[in-house]
Amino acid sequence: MSNTDHADWLSFDAEHIWHPYNTVIDPLPNLPVVAAEGVYLQLEDGRRLIDGMSSWWSAIHGYNVPQLNQAIIEQSQKMAHVMFGGITHPSAVELARRLIDLTAEPLHHVFFADSGSVSVEVAIKMAIQYWITTGKGRKRRLLTVRNGYHGDTFGAMAVTDPDNSMHSLFKEIVAEHLFAPAPNCQNDQADITAFERLISNHHDELAAVILEPIVQGAGGMRFYCPDYLRQVRSLCDRHDVLLILDEIATGFGRTGTLFAYEQADIVPDILCIGKALTGGYMTLAATLTTNRVAYGVSADGQGVLMHGPTFMANPLACSVATASIDLLLDSPWQSRVAAIEKQLQSELAPCEQSELVKKVRCLGAIGVVELTQPVDMAWLQPRLVEEGVWIRPFGRLIYLMPPYIIEPEQLSQLTSAVVTVICEMDAQ
Ligand SMILES: *Cc1c(COP(=O)(O)O)cnc(C)c1O
Repeated sequence: MSNTDHADWLSFDAEHIWHPYNTVIDPLPNLPVVAAEGVYLQLEDGRRLIDGMSSWWSAIHGYNVPQLNQAIIEQSQKMAHVMFGGITHPSAVELARRLIDLTAEPLHHVFFADSGSVSVEVAIKMAIQYWITTGKGRKRRLLTVRNGYHGDTFGAMAVTDPDNSMHSLFKEIVAEHLFAPAPNCQNDQADITAFERLISNHHDELAAVILEPIVQGAGGMRFYCPDYLRQVRSLCDRHDVLLILDEIATGFGRTGTLFAYEQADIVPDILCIGKALTGGYMTLAATLTTNRVAYGVSADGQGVLMHGPTFMANPLACSVATASIDLLLDSPWQSRVAAIEKQLQSELAPCEQSELVKKVRCLGAIGVVELTQPVDMAWLQPRLVEEGVWIRPFGRLIYLMPPYIIEPEQLSQLTSAVVTVICEMDAQ
């Protein structure tokens, strides 16, 4: 695109293209990004912004990564895609091997999905089908906690926080599941008491509990203690309810461990992964499960799992995922994430002096500044861009989750942009 047709393509976009959670009438402007490399997004006018979002948790190695480019090129010269019904291919097998190796021991079966939301749909289907084929078809509801986010499709939406999401809009259509209060970071016994009451009262109609372990992402960027998760696991065992962990955001090192559930030393029955799976290159997700669930689903001979996306296990996506995992494991990701956490903590701390800031919290490569009121995006978004950074706040939250390869000086630019805009908001 040349500069001369700048106005033209941006106005075409504004008139015809839907962006996430947006209106088509007078939408806020979208930034024209024409290239990306390392931690930089390059705008059409040549400006480069430091990326603080990793394209929503996914671009953990940054952009335009030689090893990942190469994986795509090589695979595209062999086969970009082939259907997965009745066919298999080396890219899927290679990736599945790695996923089974990396995740907890009992997770032995992999279902490849084409997005995180779909992997959650598949997880829910697995759980419900498991109980149908094992003769307990009454167990078909789900229990979760408030402030969760599990995706935008109907099954996933039904377990996403009812106030933060579209429940009111789709009231008659979303399944009615059970919601315990959101867990806290303090080891608050009241949290688990409410959860315990729900699971013990409803276990005979519950197929599964679904949770984001340790970090609740889009539903509020909240962290909670591993002990809560341990208690959930033992309550699920006691009441014969499956545990689905949604690690779509937290997986692949973001919280400091490869998977967040490791911090609680527990194992889920069903695990959803996505986002950083391909290093942000392509859409791909997976649902993993145990022998118990997989054999249960298949038990009565006709128990096929009723799902099969057209682009299931797309070879390009699988190849780049394998390359991304290898790149991650070959890198000093643990010390990088630990250093990012430390720096976020010290450099975002000054925000707490502002009256507008409720709390600053950091975990792994995630830094969150929670404000007392929603931000004015029409003012804030362009202001952050002026500061040379790409940060995308939502609601009362300004948060950072940069690529792991970010250098300390680059991270300082992100944090100082946040401190600066909060000072300006204070002065307003
Ligand atoms: C993003 C996300 C999803 C949905 O993934 P998509 O690829 O956007 O469909 C589900 N669960 C969690 C925790 C997520 O962060």
